[in-house]
Parts: sequence; structure tokens; C-alpha cells
Amino acid sequence: MNNNTIKNVIILGGGTAGWMTASLMIKVLGKNIGITLVESDKIGTVGVGEATIPPIINFNQALGLDEKEFLRETKGTIKLGIQFENWFRQGQSYMHAFGTIGKNFPFCDFHHFWVRDRLKGGDTDYWDFSLNYQAAINNKFAPLPQIKGTNLQGLSYAYHFDAGLYAQYLRKYSESKGVKRVEGTVKEVKLCPDSGEVQELLLESGKVINGDLFVDCTGLAALLIEKALGTGFEDWSHWLPCDRAIAVPSTGSKPIVPYTRSIAHECGWQWRIPLQHRTGNGIVYSSRHWTDEQAQGVLMNNLDGEALAEPRVIRFRTGRRRKQWHKNVVSIGLSSGFLEPLESTSIHLIQSAATRLIKSFPHQGIKPEEVAEFNRQSQVEFERIRDFIILHYKANQRRDSDFWRECENRDVPETLQRKMELFRRTGKVFRDYDDLFTEVAWQQVLIGQGVVPEDYHTIADGLSDAQLADLFKSLKTLIDGTVKGLPEHEQFLKM
Ligand code: FAD
Repeated sequence: MNNNTIKNVIILGGGTAGWMTASLMIKVLGKNIGITLVESDKIGTVGVGEATIPPIINFNQALGLDEKEFLRETKGTIKLGIQFENWFRQGQSYMHAFGTIGKNFPFCDFHHFWVRDRLKGGDTDYWDFSLNYQAAINNKFAPLPQIKGTNLQGLSYAYHFDAGLYAQYLRKYSESKGVKRVEGTVKEVKLCPDSGEVQELLLESGKVINGDLFVDCTGLAALLIEKALGTGFEDWSHWLPCDRAIAVPSTGSKPIVPYTRSIAHECGWQWRIPLQHRTGNGIVYSSRHWTDEQAQGVLMNNLDGEALAEPRVIRFRTGRRRKQWHKNVVSIGLSSGFLEPLESTSIHLIQSAATRLIKSFPHQGIKPEEVAEFNRQSQVEFERIRDFIILHYKANQRRDSDFWRECENRDVPETLQRKMELFRRTGKVFRDYDDLFTEVAWQQVLIGQGVVPEDYHTIADGLSDAQLADLFKSLKTLIDGTVKGLPEHEQFLKM
């Protein structure tokens, strides 16, 4: 052991990022380190962030949470995908459904068979072959790892939950396992004059908090990583034009659907996240194209039920912190960067960063090699998600406002340009190293937004027309039959 040993971890911030990080760290490293979480009741949390993606299941399982209890405590519902309405053209919609579509062949994804059929004049809907989509629009759900009697994947799912209740639930969990919570507002961050590292936090109450490693979970304030250490921010607003959101909860409506809705409007888009007791609503927009009043007007005219609170404006800048780990500060959550919630990726980024920190935990002192690798992985992860979100803006055929016309003409990162061109010319799309999104996810957004390829893989010609028609028919029959046998989503929630 040397005297740089990291024994005392301070997590600053008690939003979703703070409590997710605290709970995972105490579960995995609780025998090795002490964890203190500081949060300010006066400042509160951002209070949004209620839709997730399937890896959240692994997070909850790693903590050993019981799914029924979790859904009850957080008023959670099931999410099978995201319905994108008016994104391709007004009046049209498609779903990014989780899980697989159809049946993959060795070396050749199913969509190549669908493209072959389409190029020969077929009009079969690609989503006829998505179990997730069919269950979602029929409002059905039950845990189903595999389709009965086959080796085909069953339902892949995530959750919608009340962010405040989730944080409370994880707080209870973390405190029961030994996380020490301190309530208070940090008024000063003291740096070590030699190393420039964070040495201690001074609270308004006069209390001093010392630690070896600090996790900045202060949200958009980025108190440690930016305000104290001045790490720098890579701005991506030239690729993603939206910079504001307005959020408001509403009473909701029946049935409670098992999917998130993303509805494109003239200068932005709106989300609807159905929970057991209410709906989360919000609108994301560009302040260059809409005033706050205009955006609020559109949101309030399209609410799911009656508003339950005053609408709240949230300003943001899209991009990432240049270093997610700098000196003895690791930023997790909104302090590490912001990507609009179009594909519900922020909570996943928390999960992923907390996991990465645990895997790289610097118990014998912070080594530059470890920090560099952590930062490299974080950068790649952010950039892959950024490209996927930009795709929604670039590949659409809305031309009804300056906002959408500018999207058509705006340059996109070379990494995305390459991917879109390859798909357009050949029908092929490959999941990059460290890409959160699978090939099927990319295929759905590309096809859903009207990028129909000029070609397909030659393996898809291996079936005769009659065999292809049989394949489509048998898959559709199997999926329809499986969906019919599932309980209603709300019935599952009551079980
Ligand atoms: P916050 O929730 O803001 O927490 C910050 C914490 O730091 C608070 O406890 C605060 O009290 C504390 N703090 C700050 N300053 C001080 C101080 N001086 N002293 C002491 N404590 C301090 N993500 C998804 O995955 N899905 C979604 O659907 C989704 N929708 C979103 C919609 C919008 C409009 C926005 C803005 C974000 C959305 N996100 C979504 C992102 C998601 O909300 C965040 O990733 C998540 O809530 C984590 O936030 P946080 O914990 O980093 O910050």
C-alpha cells in the first residue's frame, strides 16, 4: 500500500446520477471503500429523465432489486420501444422497437430479405416482423426471453419510471448498505495548491468534507469537473440545434401504453412517457427558431390529460466534457455532457460510467494510463450515441419550416455520413466497436426515416420468391400468435 490509496469516495449530487453511482459502488466496492454522498435539498434535482433502454435491467439485477417491488416503488411501466411520429414526414410514424426483427440468417441480417422484397415491388411492412412492435401497439406485455418452440428472441424491454421515486428508492438501498448521506450545499471547493486536485468541499453550514476521489454528479452545474477544475467542453450544437426543453407532468390517459412517444413538431419534438400515476411530457426545441412561449404553447396544446404542475424551462448545451475524468474528479450524469433525450440514453450513460469507474477503480492511486483509457472509452461512447441522434434529424423529409430545412442541409460527422451512404448504396450497416445501438436499431431508424437501400446482400437471393413469401407468412403468423397470448400491459403491472 502507498499513501495515495483511495479509500474515501465523495459523491457530490443526489439526482439519478448520484444515487445510481452510490448504489452500484456500495454494492460492488462496499468492503473496500467508504462512500459519502452530499446533496442539497435547496438546489434539488433536474427532475426529468424517466425513459430508459434495456441495459437498465442489468443495472437493477446487479443491485439485486426485485422487479415487482421496483415497479411498485417507482410507479414504473414497461417500455418496448420509442414511437417516432411525424419524424419522417408529417402524418407518418415508425418505431425504434427494442430486440430483433424477423430471423437473422448466418452472415446476413433479416432486413436484406425485406429490402429484396421491397425492391421487387413488395409492400410488406418491416415492423410486421418485430415482436416488440406488435406487442407495443397491441398494448401487451409479459417477460418472454424466447418465442415459445423456437430459438427466436422474445421481448426485449426497459422501463419508464418516476425519476424522483427512483432516486429515493436507490437512496434507501444505498444507505442500508452503508452509504453516508450529508445534506448541504457546497459553497466552496478547495484545491490542493501543488497538484490542483480537489482537496475538500466547504458546505454553507461550515462543515468540511474531505475525500480521496470525488464523483461530480451535480448535473448541469458541473461544479467540480468544470467550475473547479475548468476541464473544458466540446460543443456539438452545430450538429444538434435544440438547446431548450420545457417539462410538465400531466394526469395521463388510458390505456397506459408500453412505449415512449416522440412527436416531431415544427421546431423541435415532444415526449410522452406514460407512468402508472401520471404522464411525463416535455418539448425539446431550438431557441433560434421558437420562443419559450411558442414552444410552451405547442406543448400545452398537446398534453396527455391535465397539467399537474407549472411548466419548467430547462436550458442546455449539447456536447461532452473534454475529459470525463480529470485529476481526482470523475463526472457522471449531466455534469459529463448532454445529449437530448431522443433515444433515452442519459441514464444509460450514468450506468455505463459508474460501471467503468468501478472496473477502473484506482485503489493504489490515480494512474494517468487508467484515466486516459477511461476518457477514451467515454468519448467513443458519447460520439456513437451522438451520431445515432443526429441521424433522426438528418434523414427525414420534413421541409415545412426553417428548422427542418436547415437539418437537411447541415453537415453531419464523417462517421455518420459514411454509415448512411453505405446503407443507402448496399443495405449494409455495421455496429461499430463500443456502439450502444445494434444493427437492428440503426436499420429501423434508417428505414423508418425513408432511407431505403438501393441493394441488398446476395445471400437474400438464396430463397426463391415462394420460399421468401413462406418465410414472411410463417414469421408473421408466429408473431401475431405470440402477441395474442400475452396479457395486457396494465394487467402485467397489477400482477
Ligand atoms: P440532477 O438531477 O440535476 O442532480 C444534481 C444533484 O447535484 C442534485 O442532488 C443537486 O442538489 C446537487 N447539487 C448541485 N449543486 C450542488 C451544490 N452546490 N451543493 C450540493 N449539491 C449540489 N435521461 C434519460 O435517460 N431518459 C430520459 O427520458 C431523459 N429525459 C430528459 C429530459 C430533459 C429535458 C433533460 C434535461 C434530461 C433528460 N434526461 C433523460 C437526462 C436525465 O434527466 C439525467 O441524466 C438524470 O436525471 C441525471 O441527472 P443528474 O443526476 O446528473 O443531475
